[in-house]
Amino acid sequence: MVYDVLIIGGGVVGCAIARELSSYRLQVALLEKEGDVAEGTSKANSGVVHAGFNVKTGSLKARFNIEGANRFPAICEELGVPYRLTKKLVVAKDRSELPYLEKLLEQGNRNGSRGLSIIAGGAIQAIEPDVRGEFALYSERTGVIAPTEFTIALAEVAHANGVEFRFNSEVKTIKRMGSVYQVAAADGSVYSASIVINSAGLYSDRILSMVEEHDRSIHPCRGEYFVLDRVGETFLRTAVYPVPPADGRGLGIHLTPTTEGNIIIGPSAEYIDDRDDLATTKSVMDTLKREAIELMPKLKDVAFIRSYAGIRPKLFVAGGSSIFEDFIIEESRANPGFISLIGIESPGLTSAPAIAEYVTEQFVAPKKTLIRNPAASTTRPAPRRIADMDAEELAAAYRSDPAFGEIVCRCNHVSKAEIEAALENPLGARTLSAVKKRTHAMMGRCQSGFCLPKILEIMIEEYGMDPGSVVFNAPDSKVVIGYEA
Ligand SMILES: Cc1cc2nc3c(=O)[nH]c(=O)nc-3n(C[C@H](O)[C@H](O)[C@H](O)COP(=O)(O)OP(=O)(O)OC[C@H]3O[C@@H](n4cnc5c(N)ncnc54)[C@H](O)[C@@H]3O)c2cc1C
Repeated sequence: MVYDVLIIGGGVVGCAIARELSSYRLQVALLEKEGDVAEGTSKANSGVVHAGFNVKTGSLKARFNIEGANRFPAICEELGVPYRLTKKLVVAKDRSELPYLEKLLEQGNRNGSRGLSIIAGGAIQAIEPDVRGEFALYSERTGVIAPTEFTIALAEVAHANGVEFRFNSEVKTIKRMGSVYQVAAADGSVYSASIVINSAGLYSDRILSMVEEHDRSIHPCRGEYFVLDRVGETFLRTAVYPVPPADGRGLGIHLTPTTEGNIIIGPSAEYIDDRDDLATTKSVMDTLKREAIELMPKLKDVAFIRSYAGIRPKLFVAGGSSIFEDFIIEESRANPGFISLIGIESPGLTSAPAIAEYVTEQFVAPKKTLIRNPAASTTRPAPRRIADMDAEELAAAYRSDPAFGEIVCRCNHVSKAEIEAALENPLGARTLSAVKKRTHAMMGRCQSGFCLPKILEIMIEEYGMDPGSVVFNAPDSKVVIGYEA
């Protein structure tokens, strides 16, 4: 069969495009090299829905950021994922940094970012009493989401509307045969499609190289984070950013409250050679701690529970001599129907819904007759979580399924029923990471010490999984050796 559209990459961008296309009568498949969606940059970022004042006026980034930010609260409602309107302070230590805030304000106003103002002294402390700084840009329209849950929800809606998801399917070669592309995956399967959408994130330049020579190159720039224990909503309500370094690598080390009640600190910015090197380092952790405590001294009393890293796909053109600051979203001239999205760095998460619409209208609509599928849904019910239930809801859940009363993860209050629901996810992802992202088990203070054996037991004994086949995420990330029943 020849698919109308084949999407390469199951990050937030590929999944947003899949969801958008799934509302039309089209045959669509998505190939992802890992065992689930949201395993690349989309799982390791700040999760901030930016308000659109950091991006250059007139750029695709500015356009999609503003469009995405305006739509996020409604989309999250439709998808049953949490959205928290944290608002944001960009804090200037002293008057010397004030011109930077004024520039941001002007740029934000030009871009159409709403709810921006510059505040000073006591007005900052009225919002966040423990934040240090003389001036701040205050954004009332900045929010946070859980990026993995958002990506999963997009994929689940697309799947329910008929998009086929193929995991552990790393694209190895692409051949053009007239008007059809033949895309071969690592397991030997070959997929034919008349439109290919290359949304492979950090590997999008290499995917493009499979069909033609070009001068776009991704330079990985790692950002490391620290995660603080849950501290309750009043500890820090607002996302707090410093005035960033002038080298353009990132937005500076910021403090971000998450939808789960933790605080994340980071990210650093360091160019590295290996696109998969997600290591975190002691020297960066020490710097993160120091800079975070400078912004908010009371952080020194909170437990730091884990670290992680994400990698920015920084885009360079013409031999890597200069950084290209906008997203590239284009159809190949030499290979019609081959669409590439390259350099989708921040604010790519915020922009994903608007990018998906743009790709559909700009590149798919001229080639395919888009007929709405009347049966397609845009919504998905929120997963049931005991951590979000009051006593009455909990009792009702327990009556409907006693597995809601069996606690598997003590740190984040996750029941066996939730682990089972995650293992039965409609996309068919059966990895530990898939369970972690869907339930938040293994993410708490004990970092899986208590719940991992219980989850393994459920996977092996109740779901009949061969212990040797249990992986964390990728096919080569096996976790069980020497198992004895
Ligand atoms: C440190 C950091 C902080 C950030 N903070 C924010 C923020 O607060 N707000 C915001 O809006 N944006 C933020 N971003 C940007 C945002 O995370 C990205 O723009 C977004 O996640 C990119 O999504 P994607 O789908 O393009 O890429 P990815 O999520 O990387 O998805 C690409 C997918 O392609 C798959 N793939 C790769 N090669 C192949 C192959 N050969 N075959 C099959 N599949 C393949 C990968 O496994 C991956 O799943 C941040 C990014 C970083 C690194």
